[in-house]
Amino acid sequence: MVLQRVIRAVIMGPPGSGKGTVSARITKTFGLQHMSSGDILRANIKEKTELGLLMKSCIDQGQLVPDDIMSRLILNELRKIDNSGWLLDGFPRTVSQAEALDHVYSVDTVINLNVPFQTIKERLTSRWTHIPSGRVYNTDFNPPKVPGLDDVTGEPLVQRDDDRPQTVTRRLKSYETQTEPVLEYYRS
Ligand code: AMP
Repeated sequence: MVLQRVIRAVIMGPPGSGKGTVSARITKTFGLQHMSSGDILRANIKEKTELGLLMKSCIDQGQLVPDDIMSRLILNELRKIDNSGWLLDGFPRTVSQAEALDHVYSVDTVINLNVPFQTIKERLTSRWTHIPSGRVYNTDFNPPKVPGLDDVTGEPLVQRDDDRPQTVTRRLKSYETQTEPVLEYYRS
């Protein structure tokens, strides 16, 4: 009998470093479930759940959702797919979240996308999103077939509130102070 190892991986990198795109390729290749914390939060906002309504202003302003709420939300989602391999994208974003994850699961792979902040600023401010699916386009290097419309559904694309220049600067700052220590945590 061959015992198949279940892969439990985390992908890290500043907002706009391409985590979503790279994650889609990895999950397809290795048959993993892709779990994006940002997508889960945006789905909650769209469905106007209590959590979504509560967290919307936090997210729009580029601030992190409080650790306890975020950890409970993600651990709850992971429980639903307990037996599959997964790739976490956007979580953990603080050492406290990494510790909460460690209490329940052992992560065996951490991928870090190392992209300069200046490149990210240019990328994020030209990024357009199809909110229902989470598909992203970039007006410079990955434009939709028809400007302003999603390739698959033809629905309109929007620029996320948190992709505005001042918000991007705030998100990168928070990455530097709160998320870079998570890389150190995993390195050690
Ligand atoms: P993302 O699409 O991953 O950039 O996430 C969008 C926004 O959701 C972030 O700017 C945060 O406000 C919030 N968010 C996503 N993941 C987390 C997390 N692990 N901890 C706290 N806030 C998060």
